[in-house]
Amino acid sequence: MATAPRFWRENPSRYNLVGIRCNSCGRYFFPRRAICPICHRKSVGKIEEVKLKGTGKIFSFTEVHDTLEELVLQKPYVVAMVEFDEGPKVTGQVIDCEASELQIGTPVRVTMRKLSEEGPSGIIHYGYKFVPVKEKAP
Ligand SMILES: [Zn+2]
Repeated sequence: MATAPRFWRENPSRYNLVGIRCNSCGRYFFPRRAICPICHRKSVGKIEEVKLKGTGKIFSFTEVHDTLEELVLQKPYVVAMVEFDEGPKVTGQVIDCEASELQIGTPVRVTMRKLSEEGPSGIIHYGYKFVPVKEKAP
């Protein structure tokens, strides 16, 4: 059918989880940026692009009941601040679970999901969401 959606092709960091490592202070940041927000000018020339593993743990979370009209079919849903293993914190929706199954520290991993589809032309936006990492049965 159609070729890959434009959004997908032009925004590799959205699905590759490309962040940066500042070799001045050693911190990781996501999404990618040009200079370190801690070191500022000292980080110039010391920024390295890194791909995050996509695993982390829940730092905080909330169940969202009020939502945009286009998301009505999904509600309520869980939004969490997730701390990646490398350190950066990002906010995203946690799917495939109920809020009651989560707690601070629950391990999660990134999954790429369709975020929205625009009108009859069908432009599809992708982005990251999180799913809990199920404990393996003993
Ligand atoms: Zn730095």
